[in-house]
Amino acid sequence: MRFVFLGPPGVGKGTQSSIIAKKLGIPHIATGDILRKAILDKTDIGLKAKAYINAGKLVPDEVIIQVMNDRLKEPDAKSGYILDGYPRTIAQGDALAIQLLASGKKLDQVVYLVLSDEVLVERISGRRVCPSCKTVYHLIYSKPEKEGECKCGVPLVQRKDDHENTVRNRLSVYKRETAPLIEYYKKLKLLLEINAEGSLGLVNEKIEGLLKVCPS
Ligand code: AMP
Repeated sequence: MRFVFLGPPGVGKGTQSSIIAKKLGIPHIATGDILRKAILDKTDIGLKAKAYINAGKLVPDEVIIQVMNDRLKEPDAKSGYILDGYPRTIAQGDALAIQLLASGKKLDQVVYLVLSDEVLVERISGRRVCPSCKTVYHLIYSKPEKEGECKCGVPLVQRKDDHENTVRNRLSVYKRETAPLIEYYKKLKLLLEINAEGSLGLVNEKIEGLLKVCPS
């Protein structure tokens, strides 16, 4: 099974796609996570990506396409995956199509999560993450038991690119660069549009109901 999760920053792609990947027993491959790890490890890719990420801009296509072509060749991705945050441009969509064709595989579905801009900004600017175990919290909707601290005991942080100004920039980048993929996948009859308003559990039920592949 091969799924792409598409949608604006803050819509819940990461949370929802990782829940579904776990249920299906396939890897959850998130370009944002790969890049943030590369930055921490100070690799060449990390050094190239850092300034773009902190400014809320997209990392250049050639960098991302190389990273993902390599990642998708790893053994754990052979029998399927969920892509979260890739593709984000038409050029990346084409690169993924070429990669799939070359390996004789196809995408099953593109899950497109939709939400209004106001709710997106509120969701992202209240987001806090654990730099250690990567658990994601929200100051209003998903508070940690102990204020400012993850369940694993590590102090929570706000991602640099989650500050309000950067969020607005990320939303306009999304509309310009990524939204054209909606038509792209619609034409390929792969798009499954889902309203992402409501609680995490409710949205998860909707996605699972429509995908019809998750064991209940
Ligand atoms: P995310 O965690 O998916 O919100 O990604 C965080 C940041 O990583 C984005 O704002 C971009 O700067 C960068 N990034 C992640 N995925 C991609 C991609 N497919 N293409 C270009 N830049 C990306």
